[in-house]
Amino acid sequence: MANQTNPKPQPSDGKSNSPSGRSPSWLLYILLALLLGQAIFYFNGSQTEEISWSRFKQEMLGNGDVYKIDVINQQKAEVYIKSEALNSSRYPEVDSSQAGPHFTFNIGSLDNFQETLDANQETTGNSIDLAFQERTDWVGSILSWTLPILIIIGIWIFILRRMRPGAGMGGGGGNIFDIGKSKAKLFEKGSSDVTFKDVAGLEEVKVEVKEVVDFLKNPSRYTKLGAKIPKGVLLVGPPGTGKTLLARAVAGQAEVPFYSISGSEFVEMFVGVGASRVRDLFKKAKQNSPSIIFIDEIDAIGRSRGKNAAMQANDERENTLNQILTEMDGFGTNTGVIVMAATNRGDVLDRALLRPGRFDRQIYLELPTRTERKAILEVHTKPLAMSDDIDLDTLAAQTPGFSGADIANVCNEAALIAARRSKEQVEMKDFYDATDRVIAGLEKKSKIISEGEKKVIAHHEAGHATASWFLKHADNLLKVSVVPRGRSLGAAWYLPQEHVIYNTDQFMDRICTALGGRAAEEIIFGKVSSGALDDLEKVTKQAYTMVAYYGLNEKLGNISYYDSTGQSEQSLQKPYSEATAQVIDEEVHKLVETAYQRTLNLLRDHRSQLEELAQLLLTKEVAFKDDLVAIFGERTQEVEA
Ligand code: ATP
Repeated sequence: MANQTNPKPQPSDGKSNSPSGRSPSWLLYILLALLLGQAIFYFNGSQTEEISWSRFKQEMLGNGDVYKIDVINQQKAEVYIKSEALNSSRYPEVDSSQAGPHFTFNIGSLDNFQETLDANQETTGNSIDLAFQERTDWVGSILSWTLPILIIIGIWIFILRRMRPGAGMGGGGGNIFDIGKSKAKLFEKGSSDVTFKDVAGLEEVKVEVKEVVDFLKNPSRYTKLGAKIPKGVLLVGPPGTGKTLLARAVAGQAEVPFYSISGSEFVEMFVGVGASRVRDLFKKAKQNSPSIIFIDEIDAIGRSRGKNAAMQANDERENTLNQILTEMDGFGTNTGVIVMAATNRGDVLDRALLRPGRFDRQIYLELPTRTERKAILEVHTKPLAMSDDIDLDTLAAQTPGFSGADIANVCNEAALIAARRSKEQVEMKDFYDATDRVIAGLEKKSKIISEGEKKVIAHHEAGHATASWFLKHADNLLKVSVVPRGRSLGAAWYLPQEHVIYNTDQFMDRICTALGGRAAEEIIFGKVSSGALDDLEKVTKQAYTMVAYYGLNEKLGNISYYDSTGQSEQSLQKPYSEATAQVIDEEVHKLVETAYQRTLNLLRDHRSQLEELAQLLLTKEVAFKDDLVAIFGERTQEVEA
């Protein structure tokens, strides 16, 4: 049954912060206060004045004023003064109505004391009532053995509080004894304000995920046909594609308790904690079934277990994973508990975790398409004050490869830029600047670049631009800039065509475009610079994937050494022989060299246009589409984005 409603997400450990929950320490405080009170009372209680031995001897004994002495513990003498002496002027400090003792003093040597008294009696004939008493200082002796214990207990309580998970970070409650309890956050009905409306695009995914909600609401609809309700749904996809957002939408609409935890929260430095937390989480979820458990970043614990024990140091993680496997598919059935998990490393997950019966449904989220990007833009521009010139279609077209999180970032960045420019509304230009910033980083106009370097950079960027303009399969060029941004000194903005597959010609044109910068440097200056590092890295990787993964090399043939399971990452051996490795290296080298020669030829043919663009960049810093058309003419091969 669902629990009572709870307006705010609460830590699920049910820890109470009521004063009664802290009664042991309160008890201690009270005890301590009582003891201290008694001690103060005891010490203040004896208000008798302490005098010196000589005053006692000369003034009191000498005048025969003393009628009684109590010797306490053979150390202290309490002196009682006769009432007629009290009335005299000798003892103004003592109230004559006071019963006594009136004075005290330390005896020092008992023998000496007694001799003095005897001598006094002999000479004056004044007899003094002398009594010896033993008194125990209860408060003092109790304090002497309770105080150290109380101090130790105090230090212990202090340490326990400090060791509380989240202590000092404003985190949830719990103490050291709760270390094995799961730290999952519990979202009750209505406690998540995200709905499926906030998740733009991802239509197919939403249908799948919505079904999970339906399973829990109307299980009989499925079970009466003999169908079993799926136990687990795994969301796999690149970062920022909305996995966590989807889970939050499920939490908002499922109307059942929703336990959310991150994979890394299971594992602590103590051995056995992970497994114990998994047990605790499933126990709570079962008690509150129907319910949903959401484990974000499950790859933190769900990585495939190693075969070679010596190479795998993290036993604790494996124990945690084993416990999850057992809980999801153990003897006890988890009726009404559905586990949702998210990861961006589906390839590294343990196969046992992925098999049907555990995560029956695996949902792949991809980077949003153009239509989806528009939908995401619509969601995130809703709260913005927008001017009429904003065209979400164009923005969606100009943000290929952006994830949902990137788009959310662009929208926010555009609003911040508009605010910085003291505008009333966010304009299209702000969006363009925000996109540039997200793609290429912050403009660094203050970066000091010499004239010579600037010339090289301008020709380098003009080289990319010229190559892309005249290559049939290259992406559409939008603008070129030599303003330093982020780590780059200049950049060319393209509108990539969103293909699902690429052929050799398309790959080759991309490689030639990337080599355009270096080729331009060679043609114009006769020497090359280090400025092509990024390009060369991209080109080399691309060439290797063509040869070793996509089977696009004639010599190597239709062979791919790609490993979708990700296990080859852990192995130290290459899946091919030394001889094959050599062939791969040679073929990659040949491929890049061919592309480079082709680019050189192309740029030589269009050298004057290249130089014209470089000059424009040197004067204006940025060249837009119109400038490019003016220099190169309309691009005949341009493909509609
Ligand atoms: P990671 O794998 O890095 O955890 P994720 O896939 O879980 O990433 P989310 O945290 O769900 O990503 O998304 C980050 C942010 O991106 C969201 O808070 C949201 O603002 C935005 N976002 C992502 N996808 C979408 C979408 N489809 N619709 C609306 N906003 C989205």
